[in-house]
Amino acid sequence: MSMLSEKIADSLARGSAIRKMFELGAELKKIHGADKVYDFSLGNPDLPPPPAVGQALAEIAKEADKPFSVGYMPNAGYPDVREALAVHAGKEQSVPYSGQDIVMTCGAAGGLNCFFRAVLDPGEEVICPSPYFVEYGFYVGNHGGKLVTVPSKLPSFDLDVDALLGAINEKTRVVMINSPNNPTGVIYPEATLKALADGLMAENAKRKRPIYLLSDEPYRFLAYDGAVVPSLPKLYPFTVVGTSFSKNLSLPGERVGYLAVAPNMPDKGELVDGLVFANRTLGFVNAPCIGQRLIQRVLGSQVDAAVYAERRAAMAKVLTDAGYEFTMPQGAFYFFPKAPGGNDAAFVDKLTAQRVLAAPGAGFGLPGYFRLAFCVDRKVIENSAEGFKKAKEGC
Ligand code: PLP
Repeated sequence: MSMLSEKIADSLARGSAIRKMFELGAELKKIHGADKVYDFSLGNPDLPPPPAVGQALAEIAKEADKPFSVGYMPNAGYPDVREALAVHAGKEQSVPYSGQDIVMTCGAAGGLNCFFRAVLDPGEEVICPSPYFVEYGFYVGNHGGKLVTVPSKLPSFDLDVDALLGAINEKTRVVMINSPNNPTGVIYPEATLKALADGLMAENAKRKRPIYLLSDEPYRFLAYDGAVVPSLPKLYPFTVVGTSFSKNLSLPGERVGYLAVAPNMPDKGELVDGLVFANRTLGFVNAPCIGQRLIQRVLGSQVDAAVYAERRAAMAKVLTDAGYEFTMPQGAFYFFPKAPGGNDAAFVDKLTAQRVLAAPGAGFGLPGYFRLAFCVDRKVIENSAEGFKKAKEGC
């Protein structure tokens, strides 16, 4: 007897390699002690939120006895928070957003789900470069769509624009990208994005409905060596940016994010209405009110990105010393090295035998590689060096 829909039962049966690693990690830590397990399997930021967050929460707590302080609000979010975010996002993206272009969401994940809910008809396609964030397939599938993946260029992980444009057909509704990228750390260069935007404009000229560009950007704040994350709404009017404060403020549990609709998108009001409707009827309604009040107070603060930069250097040293092949991440907190021997699942098992936990590339749509999340203490990185060397022996 199955208690589940076929679709959910099937998704569960395929399982999540990352989740499995998480459980295995907890088991190994019990047996060997937490300091003897080097867990790079999960992108859960370990840095505490900046001090401004605690101060803001204390201020918000003082207001809690006022009527409606934690009440329902307009469905797109608090108007003054949307206005503040319009200014903030406008600076980041170099485009003049207004508060009306911003929809508050339950993290980036909630925002992506609202967007797909609002724009996809059954069977329509979302094109995405691979490797990609594992959840995208589920988010698109939740709303009757189909994720179509297109391999990125190797070893740079840059977009293959010709292949992406070549995958477009009459069912294509969205092209989605994620930069800085999970799992590769790549930041797509402006020239590549311009070629993509120009190609999409040429496609739109042949169609009744435009193709949206969805830009998933929770790692925008984390770009190394002075790298700049280019603005997509500047390049393409049918762009929607989805993002959150999960990583830049280390607040993934508070579920606060937003969607920003490009200010020069024709008929953008209709899209915003659809996003707000989707948010409401999916049951999110909008982002948690305390989260909204919190980010309004701390906009502009973030965790110390220099800590991640030091860890990136430490991880690169460990991998280089042990002879791994990898492309240096330009942003985010992930490495995506080649699996010695070519079989990612087998190699991840070898790492696990050394108590080094990683996620196989197949789960991100690129077998033969593995992902390391370096949002862990620098000591964990340095102490893992021996394990990385031993795992590679004999490959
Ligand atoms: N998109 C990417 C690429 C991510 O890595 C994550 C989380 O790890 C998300 C979206 C979801 O972010 P949030 O926690 O804000 O929903």
